Amino acid sequence: MEIFLIAVAVGALFGLILALVARSRARQREAGVAKPERGLRARPIPTRPEPAAPPRKPAAPPRPAPPRAPPRAEGLGVRIRALFAGKRATDEEWVRLEDLLVRADVGPGASARLVQRVRERYEDGSDPAVLMAEEVASALGGDSTLHLIPGELTVIMVVGVNGAGKTTTIGKLAAYLTGQGLRVGLANSDTFRAAAGEQLTVWAGRAGAHIVTQTRGADPGAVAFDAVGSAKARGDDVLIVDTAGRLHTRQPLMAELAKVKRVLEKAAGDVQEVLLVIDATTGQNGIAQAREFTNSVPLTGVALTKLDGTAKGGIVLAVRDEIGVPVKLVGLGEGLHDLQPFDPEAFADNLLAG
Ligand code: GDP
Repeated sequence: MEIFLIAVAVGALFGLILALVARSRARQREAGVAKPERGLRARPIPTRPEPAAPPRKPAAPPRPAPPRAPPRAEGLGVRIRALFAGKRATDEEWVRLEDLLVRADVGPGASARLVQRVRERYEDGSDPAVLMAEEVASALGGDSTLHLIPGELTVIMVVGVNGAGKTTTIGKLAAYLTGQGLRVGLANSDTFRAAAGEQLTVWAGRAGAHIVTQTRGADPGAVAFDAVGSAKARGDDVLIVDTAGRLHTRQPLMAELAKVKRVLEKAAGDVQEVLLVIDATTGQNGIAQAREFTNSVPLTGVALTKLDGTAKGGIVLAVRDEIGVPVKLVGLGEGLHDLQPFDPEAFADNLLAG
């Protein structure tokens, strides 16, 4: 009996120990602590530091639609045709045609006259742009050649506002004339601008022309007088006289221009050409320039520069209409040979192109 009681007590004790061990394991499992496998030391799993998550970009704002390419500027010809396409020409179309010309710098008076002529010739089925090109060429036609006196000294005076392309045009004209076997002299009567003499001297060298120049501030009339003497002594065929690119609104300077002309007339007997250089990109200001210059020194012709750019030079139609001065030369670039005699048909085609 005693032995039986001892065995029960030992069994109970053993059972209690087993129950405690089982409970302890259960707790460990609940706490997530893995039991190291036998024979292997639990080593911490090498872990790379988590790369810092890239900062999240703020939500991109909705992208604006890519800008649309601006519609290609259509030429005057295309716009004129579109105006008349598929409908009878009424007063409204003719008014709008006039408006198109005014916006191309042709000027109100010249625009009205051109439209009137096209209107008289227009009939169903005709191309209004072709009619307009013909009328433009006709309005600009006539005597557009330079008047050179064979065997004598021809004097060409060149005027225009600063930046119009006066010096460049003189250089190109000199090259054109020497290219025809003529002897050419240049006079730098632009004594107002410091660099003018140097600039013109470079052009003279390129063109194979002789130059008379003086220091800044010298009397422009005196330079002109000396240049005529020098040209005569050398037996030159043409003398081209540069003048200060004065603001056409400055009266004393305009008076000085008239004085240079008087000196030239006295020294050489006559001035065959007074050319106004107009920049094709000038727009309506070109007509104001032409008015002012011709008041001081009556113009005989226009040299239209920078026609190689986008500007079409519609302003010369206004100048021709109002002042009656023909275009004689056209500048088509900055190079020595980028000058051409004026061709009314080519000009009209270019004006109406597109
Ligand atoms: P000026 O102040 O009237 O003597 O003008 P310049 O002869 O010095 O010319 C002013 C600028 O216009 C210069 O950069 C010239 O190269 C440029 N230029 C002159 N004529 C033409 C032309 O026919 N076409 C182009 N593209 N540029 C020109």
